Amino acid sequence: MSAREPRPAHYRCVGIGAGPANLSLASLLHADPDVPNLFLDRKDEFGWHDGQLVDGATLQVSPLKDLVSLHDPTNPYSFLNYLHEQGRIYHFLNARFDSVPRREYRNYLEWAARRNPNVVFGEAVTAVDFDGIFTLRTNRRTVTADHVVVGVGAEPWVPEFARGLLGDSQCHVADFNGMAGALGGRSVVVIGGGQSGAEAVLDLIARTGSALPRDTVWVSRRRNFFPIDDSPFTNEFFMPCHSDYFYNLDAESRAAFNRQHVLASDGISESTARELYQRLYVHRFVDQRDETVGMYPNRDVVDVTREGARWLVAVRHRDESDQFEYFEADAIIWATGYRPGALDFLAPLADRLEREHGEFTVDEDFAVRWDGPPDRSIFLQNAVPRQRGLADPNLSLNSWRAQRIRDRIRGTRSRDQLAAFVEWSTKPGRSMPV
Ligand SMILES: Cc1cc2nc3c(=O)[nH]c(=O)nc-3n(C[C@H](O)[C@H](O)[C@H](O)COP(=O)(O)OP(=O)(O)OC[C@H]3O[C@@H](n4cnc5c(N)ncnc54)[C@H](O)[C@@H]3O)c2cc1C
Repeated sequence: MSAREPRPAHYRCVGIGAGPANLSLASLLHADPDVPNLFLDRKDEFGWHDGQLVDGATLQVSPLKDLVSLHDPTNPYSFLNYLHEQGRIYHFLNARFDSVPRREYRNYLEWAARRNPNVVFGEAVTAVDFDGIFTLRTNRRTVTADHVVVGVGAEPWVPEFARGLLGDSQCHVADFNGMAGALGGRSVVVIGGGQSGAEAVLDLIARTGSALPRDTVWVSRRRNFFPIDDSPFTNEFFMPCHSDYFYNLDAESRAAFNRQHVLASDGISESTARELYQRLYVHRFVDQRDETVGMYPNRDVVDVTREGARWLVAVRHRDESDQFEYFEADAIIWATGYRPGALDFLAPLADRLEREHGEFTVDEDFAVRWDGPPDRSIFLQNAVPRQRGLADPNLSLNSWRAQRIRDRIRGTRSRDQLAAFVEWSTKPGRSMPV
């Protein structure tokens, strides 16, 4: 910094990203005079997976799993307060949604971002360095902080061979809305059997007239188009005590858990599955257009090649592995998931931060282990699924995790809710009835 440059603004806490994870912390910190804070997001304005927000999409969790309620139910940034401030709390109750429209929840998040002056859009953090305090460079300015909280979310993922193919006629489902209008009368292949793939397929096959694709083929690696497990005991995986239990497992057990229980967070909503099935019924038996939809689970897409103006999608069956199928497509939607976002802006500190199995290593408060002073931390939200499990990207523990980070910054400890009914770990010394 030259002698003439003004000293950068200093905060106790600066957040990188303002999606639900960091918005939760921003909401908890908003009225906290002890922790001056700033949250920066590179988007020009708020959005929440808007590129794939299709009509009829709903939230997969209770709206009480909002930014604050599970750990600070009197906080003004709650979903209930949003409804109340908009004057629609009675209407919301009367509507008795089985699940809340995702657009309504998105609007709630936008409201929370807007009413909080510490949340700023249009500012990308490009580098974080440390010299007694953290220095964050953005595309607009430099700020400094005692603590940094990274909440940059996840990025769309497609297989290696598909990366160079994305463009006008192939996209990740994150950009579905950009392509969706041009798919009437075309052949479309959707790859990926989770909720995002299901929503894209449903959007396509629910259309009528010239907007309906000529045919829609849905390919999934999973053995069937499986539902999300939203049952009570599975939901105990999404409680703080389970997150801590998971954190203390060895790496191999954690990886096995994430593999085995993927449907706890990544299956198709029951209502979406039912609606899809009903559409299939109508296409085949009522409209007698059997060719409109093809369902192909238990298959890997192994290659995509040009075939004149179209694409040829090569698919291998996972049981009958000598059997290949080929689908011609005008357009391909890759609903192949997300992976934690790149943290390139941490490059100046890279050799000071501990890593394990491809992630930065965090302590029990989500602070990266490093060689810096213990009262200066970089916290990671939704970036360590291998250490914190399937709940890490989920909305369920947002307010708890944010509260834990806030406690660490303030040197306090909030009371947790009571433990799950399920005993996750052994209780040495306890005598058990036989
Ligand atoms: C379509 C969809 C629906 C989902 N629905 C549910 C659901 O119903 N229930 C559930 O529990 N979970 C759901 N999830 C999973 C999860 O809750 C969301 O992905 C959630 O958005 C994660 O929040 P986040 O804040 O970690 O990341 P994001 O929402 O991705 O936010 C990260 C933010 O960081 C910003 N950013 C990135 N890099 C920088 C940088 N260098 N500088 C500044 N800003 C930066 C981005 O612009 C972005 O706004 C859903 C996911 C998807 C894709």
